[in-house]
Amino acid sequence: MPKRGDARRSDARRIGIFGGTFDPVHIGHLRSALEVAQFMALDELRLVPSARPPHRDAPQVRAHDRLAMVELAVAGLAPLRVDDRELARDKPSYSIDTLESLRAELATDDQLFLLLGWDAFCGLPSWHRWNELLEHCHILVLQRPDADSEPPEALRNLMAARSLNDPLALSGPGGQISFIWQTPLAVSATQIRALLARGESARYLVPDSVLTYIHAHGLYRAAN
Ligand code: ATP
Repeated sequence: MPKRGDARRSDARRIGIFGGTFDPVHIGHLRSALEVAQFMALDELRLVPSARPPHRDAPQVRAHDRLAMVELAVAGLAPLRVDDRELARDKPSYSIDTLESLRAELATDDQLFLLLGWDAFCGLPSWHRWNELLEHCHILVLQRPDADSEPPEALRNLMAARSLNDPLALSGPGGQISFIWQTPLAVSATQIRALLARGESARYLVPDSVLTYIHAHGLYRAAN
């Protein structure tokens, strides 16, 4: 039976990547990220706010504000931290670009883990240069017990070739896929935006520091 931290070897760093619009960041993101970071014994788990997500509508508030909220949310919460590289690029946030740019900064044996929800994972074949992703990282799929979608054919082949049952057995800098079962907190940014637009409280759904920022900057009000 593998124990937490067994996958750590030599001085290679273990770095997780958790992307999202974070419009706004909430306790669902943070709790999930923290649990994965602890279970996987990550040295860092980087929350990566996306600039112009290729797969969805534009975020409601400016990149600057989404970044500020994620920074407040993870302040003092190592190993969680923020990586703002996608906001510095004036083009859609493709994961392959992010991974290539990160890889260029890391030691060759550092391990990278791209965290994806099951639904996002199932949509992988529509991503830009998707079949190159595993050249740069492992993929950790966050599986929810109620997930019911079937993976597409292209992904089934990849899963058969690259999947390991035990996420702690992922070895080397990248190239493999594994699954972590997690029951997510029933919170979404959509729900929080709707509450705030109606003038209702979002207390306890986001960290207090984030709520203070939202109110101080008048974000998500119906007039916005
Ligand atoms: P929206 O409601 O605007 O679609 P969201 O709450 O789903 O937003 P995103 O920023 O789109 O948040 O999500 C970033 C990542 O966090 C995605 O991988 C998503 O699956 C994951 N995520 C979203 N909500 C939760 C949650 N409650 N628990 C765990 N992970 C979550």
